[in-house]
Amino acid sequence: MVSTSGTPRLRPYTFRDLATLPQLGGLPVESRRAMEVVAHVLPFRANNYVVEELIDWGRIPDDPVFRLTFPQPEMLAPEQFSRMAAALASGLGDAHVRAVADEIRQELNPHPAGQLQHNVPTLDGKPVEGVQHKYRETCLVFPSAGQTCHAYCSFCFRWAQFVGSRDLKLATDESLRYCDYLRRRHEVTDVLFTGGDPMVMRADVFARYLEPLLADDLRHVQTIRIGTKALTYWPYRFLSDDDTDALMRLFERIVASGKHLAIMAHFNHWKELSTPAVRQAIGRLKSLGAVIRTQSPLVRHINDDADVWARMWKEQVRLGCVPYYMFISRDTGAQHYFKVPLYRALEIYTDAMTSGSGLARSARGPVMSALPGKIALDGVADIGGKPVFSLSFLQGRDPDWCKRPFFAEFDPNACWLTDLRPAFGDTEFFFERELAAILSQRHPETPRPVATQLEPLAA
Ligand SMILES: *Cc1c(COP(=O)(O)O)cnc(C)c1O
Ligand code: SF4
Repeated sequence: MVSTSGTPRLRPYTFRDLATLPQLGGLPVESRRAMEVVAHVLPFRANNYVVEELIDWGRIPDDPVFRLTFPQPEMLAPEQFSRMAAALASGLGDAHVRAVADEIRQELNPHPAGQLQHNVPTLDGKPVEGVQHKYRETCLVFPSAGQTCHAYCSFCFRWAQFVGSRDLKLATDESLRYCDYLRRRHEVTDVLFTGGDPMVMRADVFARYLEPLLADDLRHVQTIRIGTKALTYWPYRFLSDDDTDALMRLFERIVASGKHLAIMAHFNHWKELSTPAVRQAIGRLKSLGAVIRTQSPLVRHINDDADVWARMWKEQVRLGCVPYYMFISRDTGAQHYFKVPLYRALEIYTDAMTSGSGLARSARGPVMSALPGKIALDGVADIGGKPVFSLSFLQGRDPDWCKRPFFAEFDPNACWLTDLRPAFGDTEFFFERELAAILSQRHPETPRPVATQLEPLAA
């Protein structure tokens, strides 16, 4: 499919293909079995582009895109792994396997951070489905047709929605109530389409969500952002799918309307930027006037290395993309396998940052997208002879929290905000009381906690 003959067509691979993919043929049988065991618990999806053009099969299992997409045995705890292996070997059938899979999934914190119920806005007393409005200027929209991806990241914190029942999903239908909401919210300048990956939608479906934003009554929406990993997982989306031309014309209409079209591209490793297809796709998006900003979580086994980030950011700048965020990955799924301690994240960020020119230093990080807001770890300060973490908000539930430095005790094992203790013997961080007040008054009528894992990452 290296696209000399004919047009590449997306062929998804799922756990059923693990037994037959020729590229896996060189692996010992036990390794293939192990992947199948994990793929019965955590979602697996790859495709012909990932397998044929991105992964260097001579370098597995260390190849970063292999680790990014294919299940690794250590993603389950040994006991969980044995439990699933036993279920598969038991001969008790699919229902039994599913029950054991669900049991293990429940142990993997499928809904971290209890966020969504606080972020769904209301209109005329009713929740606006498929919308999250956490920070004043920016609304997230989750189109129902965009709740999957061209392939899945093994670390995805939205993994529960790919294996779960419908009620784990948060999505808006095409009734476009979100536009009614936006018409009344003149402070919203940015609408961010996310998923899953909204680029899995057909152009005509996406148009139904996008076109209303171009009307005069929504001119306060200045920027349309699209969170996507399609540049990594299926760059042909922007080159040669059936409806690519229609999609490009839709994007051109956004730009012609005077709005900013921002592609929020999810890249984890410089290798994802290395194929002819991704470079052409980036070129095409830029030529129609979109700006590509890039973001990624820091993930052990995939990119926990300053050189990888430095090279990725330099490469992005060379290709005309703007590095935007380095995220800390959150506590869900196979987090024991992927997590990186905060102090280490800071080292990697600092080393990578200081090795490039100013243009390769535009990514903010390391950032936790947490319950109170987006919090950056700014450094380790020595105060009164004691090391402390210095942190600040990039976005807060209360906009006034931004840029105010606050301090936590240095802890080499801390991996997330909730692991941190206030420094200097304080009993709480400065924002905690107000946060509790905001959370208790907001949307008291919101019916029940639904999916909580849907914060943007690619996305
Ligand atoms: C990250 C994020 C945004 C966008 O924040 P920016 O700083 O404008 O990029 C908006 N809403 C939510 C819920 C987010 O997590
Ligand atoms: S991290 Fe983003 S692109 Fe990757 S599987 Fe999750 S939603 Fe899809």
